[in-house]
Formats: sequence, C-alpha cells, structure tokens
Amino acid sequence: MRCPYCGHTKNRVVDSRTSREGRAVRRRRECESCDERFTTYEVVEERPLAVKKRDGSFEAFDRSKLIRGIQVACTKRPVTLRQIEGIADAIEESLERSESGEVESWQIGELVMQHLRDLDQVAYVRFASVYTNFQDPEEYLETIRELAEREGYDAAQLDFLESVLAEEPSTKRPKSKDKKE
Ligand SMILES: [Zn+2]
Repeated sequence: MRCPYCGHTKNRVVDSRTSREGRAVRRRRECESCDERFTTYEVVEERPLAVKKRDGSFEAFDRSKLIRGIQVACTKRPVTLRQIEGIADAIEESLERSESGEVESWQIGELVMQHLRDLDQVAYVRFASVYTNFQDPEEYLETIRELAEREGYDAAQLDFLESVLAEEPSTKRPKSKDKKE
C-alpha cells in the first residue's frame, strides 16, 4: 500500500477495527519512511446475485423488490416492517451461499413462503396465491385446507379467508410476478 504522502510502499498497521456495521475493516497505517499516517479500508467484494426468472432471463437480485412483495402480502396484517426485513435478511443470507451466484426465482418464492407460513397464515396464503398463480379457486382452498391441518393454526384466520374467497372469486391473478415495475 503506497503512502499517499511520499509514495513509499512499506508501512505498519497501527490500528485495525471493523466499520460500516462489520462490512469493512478500517486500518490506520504509518509510513515507515515519512511516519505520516493514512487509512485504508478492506471490504468484501460484492458479488451480484443473479436471479433466473421463469422465462429463462436473468435479473439482478433486488432486495427492495423482495421486501415490497412481502409487504403486499402482509397488508393490514400484524406484521411489522422489522419482521419483514428480518425475512429479507434471512433469505438474502441463504441466497448468498449459492456457489454459482445464481438462484431461480422459484427458490426465492419458496423461501418467502416458508417464512410467512410460520409468521402469518393470511399473508402466507396471499403470497402463495400470487406466487404459485393458482389456476382455480379450488386449488386456493386446498392450500387453506392444508394449512388448517397443520398443528397450531388459527382457525379463525382460516375461516376469514374462506369467507373472503367465497365473496371474491377473483383471487387468481394474471401472471404478473415477473413483470418489471
Ligand atoms: Zn510516507
């Protein structure tokens, strides 16, 4: 590391600490020639994660898009932004372990569903309905029945969903998930 004052390349590290919430290491260095001090930062090389969409095209992983998708499913549900961000963090973390730097969009959808299933059943079913593009209301109801069979599920929430579905058979939506906003 070349000294910015005299150009000498030898220096010693006098202080080293993490910064930027652990994403960087800041080092104070002292030039062995002129004794001036300067700072260097070491950061992890960010590898952009590529998401392979259902049509075979790729786009860069977009955390804010993921959060928006979860937020829509959680509209008027007792789910805090902090919880949603926590889901996004957990998903991002597991995606970053992808050796190839590539993930398929369905993998992200599955991960969101896993998290929502444990957090809020209504949000889960809403997300699942968009994500899996239910072709008919029966399929939708089947998912709800499966949920009801899981131990510990809130029957009142599921009844609510069934009644909403009975009133609004238009819960199926066009294939819009992969469209750019
Ligand atoms: Zn120097």
